[in-house]
Amino acid sequence: MNDAYGRRIDYLRLSVTDLCNYRCIYCMPDSGVPKKEHSEVLSVEECIDVAAQSARCGVRKVRVTGGEPLVRHGILDICRGIAEIGGIAELCLTTNGSLLGGFARSLREAGVDRLNVSLDTLRPERFASLTRRGSLTDVLEGVDAALRAGFGRLKFNVVLMGGVNDDEIPDFVALTREHPVEVRFIELMPIGECADWDRSRFVGGSRVLEACPDLSPTDTDGVAARYRIPGYAGTVGLIRPLSHKFCSECNRIRVTADGKLKPCLHSEAEIPLKGLRGEALFRAIRGGILQKPLQHEMERLGSRSVRPMNRIGG
Ligand code: SAM
Ligand code: SF4
Repeated sequence: MNDAYGRRIDYLRLSVTDLCNYRCIYCMPDSGVPKKEHSEVLSVEECIDVAAQSARCGVRKVRVTGGEPLVRHGILDICRGIAEIGGIAELCLTTNGSLLGGFARSLREAGVDRLNVSLDTLRPERFASLTRRGSLTDVLEGVDAALRAGFGRLKFNVVLMGGVNDDEIPDFVALTREHPVEVRFIELMPIGECADWDRSRFVGGSRVLEACPDLSPTDTDGVAARYRIPGYAGTVGLIRPLSHKFCSECNRIRVTADGKLKPCLHSEAEIPLKGLRGEALFRAIRGGILQKPLQHEMERLGSRSVRPMNRIGG
């Protein structure tokens, strides 16, 4: 269905947990986040029903995210249930990759079509300090397992941070020489842990084009502007929520692990869905779509969301 401004809303980002086994410095405090009671979090059945009722509202693509979705108990049942919903054409999952080694094949069998793997650095020591507890080896093994399980068109999410990992832009772009993958550079958004970081950390996506002038524009894919170095197997995506506001093309709604529909990532509006099923859930989701604001004002006011990314679902 269309929202009040005529945008077709066909994409649901569903967070299945706030918890994570990593503590990326821009996303989570070192101490982690308080664990919620079972009763506060959407159950497996509720997650599937949220996707089913969203499909009735016109959603065609679902992305399962978190926190880290692979630490969620019942994640395979959630994926299987969503994949079976008529009308959902594409089921994707965003993961930090740490547990993919054990999960890749079952995710494929459960009906997940595509994976995005977050990878902010290719240097083992930097990886350990950026994630505060992660191992680059685990993620690379996970990526191998995903390829063996038949996941094609893998996407890597790289959050750009000035003075932290922007010196690795050419190394990431070099990955696309031999491999048919997409490396997506995402502008860091001032939300949660990094809301008060020094402005120099928030570098624009144009830094990528300056570092790799051979990149030529090809097309767009949702909110990503795509580039390729001629002759390379893979592509480079730029996601620029700060320097290139894409609200006019926004096609998404988000649902948090505790069942709040967020019509906009950066607004404080939240519609409670927990406890609703069937027709009542359908009506609440439809109401949420109609409440989508025209645009965020993050560049002027900062993010108005009361939650950090791990509690929204990035
Ligand atoms: N744990 C999974 C992962 O890291 O892929 C899924 C959840 S994570 C919140 C989803 C994506 O949001 C990751 O690619 C992460 O790097 C990104 N993210 C988190 N905080 C962000 C921020 N402040 N600005 C931009 N991207 C952010
Ligand atoms: Fe966990 Fe993903 Fe946040 Fe990193 S970005 S702390 S992996 S939820």
